[in-house]
Amino acid sequence: MSKYVGRLFSPRDDHVKKFFSNYPICGIRNLGNTCFISSVLQSLANTQQIRSYCYHHYNPIKGRAGDKSVYHGSLLNAFINLTNAIWSGNYRFVTSLAIKDIVSETHPQYKGKEQNDAHEFLLIFLEILEKELNTKDINDFSSSISPQLLSPIPCRGTIKTYSRETSPSKEYYSPFEVEMNEIGSDDSSSDYYFSKNLISDVFRGRIKRVTECSICHSSSETFEEFISLSVPVPQWYSNETHPISLESCIELFLHYENVEDWYCEECNQKRKAKIYSTINDIPKVLIIQLVRIYSKKYPTQQVLFPLNDLVVQTSPNHFDFYDLYSFITHTGSLSKGHYISWNRVLDQWYCCNDENVSQSKPNTSSDTVYILFYKRKVS
Ligand SMILES: [Zn+2]
Repeated sequence: MSKYVGRLFSPRDDHVKKFFSNYPICGIRNLGNTCFISSVLQSLANTQQIRSYCYHHYNPIKGRAGDKSVYHGSLLNAFINLTNAIWSGNYRFVTSLAIKDIVSETHPQYKGKEQNDAHEFLLIFLEILEKELNTKDINDFSSSISPQLLSPIPCRGTIKTYSRETSPSKEYYSPFEVEMNEIGSDDSSSDYYFSKNLISDVFRGRIKRVTECSICHSSSETFEEFISLSVPVPQWYSNETHPISLESCIELFLHYENVEDWYCEECNQKRKAKIYSTINDIPKVLIIQLVRIYSKKYPTQQVLFPLNDLVVQTSPNHFDFYDLYSFITHTGSLSKGHYISWNRVLDQWYCCNDENVSQSKPNTSSDTVYILFYKRKVS
């Protein structure tokens, strides 16, 4: 272990490579209470569309890859490099130092070594990326990438089709390639290459709220964009544990709500009304944050979450299905807690606990599950 200390991107030795050849993911080093950053980056880097985008926008960095200056202050550049390093198969772990430094420039709460909330960091991180993508000229950005990388044709899984400074050797089996094959098969990688804004295209959805007058039944609609749904978990006040399903939590989140004194334009006066919400524009990736109530007296509420086929209703007769590919657990308190990212790659689950990655079967009834990443099934 000690030989890796001090290195920012820790290469795998040849014998280690062989040993770890079945471990597609590499860890992200803890820089002192940075598990809230590592867990978010692991989950995002395992998002198919993000991996595809980063793969096509790969720009080999010369110099110290952990140093923020080599990325010209661009969080997107640093993230592209980190994501590609994670999937290259060449590293045992990488570092989020450059990313932490760049985010801290506008959000000084991340400067020190304090523990922070992973969901808050996730939203801030995605907001900065979205802004950078809106102002960035994609052609400018790609100008220094070799022409073959500019090809919008999805990679079909041969190592020869791309050149990197650190391209994996032929003998080295890289599951990244296999997954690129999968991505290529539905042509989504070419979509994301040209996507105007990767973050909004993948994560943004819209909730429709309908307020209906109890007397004349006229209604008014408002829309609210989201990048993550913050879903409250009802707490069972008992010492026995009764797990609640994620679907029930979502249903409760969208449920009918009665309001007094709503001004109805048709009736021209204040009326009782009911508000109900639906997910109107459904995102390709649905991020769900579970908002829990912590009580010293009672055990924390267990939530049952499906690994496959989460059903999300988008209209009275329409349902969408989602599969889980990543989630983040949180144990302990906010100031002293620990975050871990769990990731599914080629139907195998990996527990990514900072720099340590291990194969592990997730427990789907959990009082620690905090952020879930579901991808929509293509029907
Ligand atoms: Zn009315």
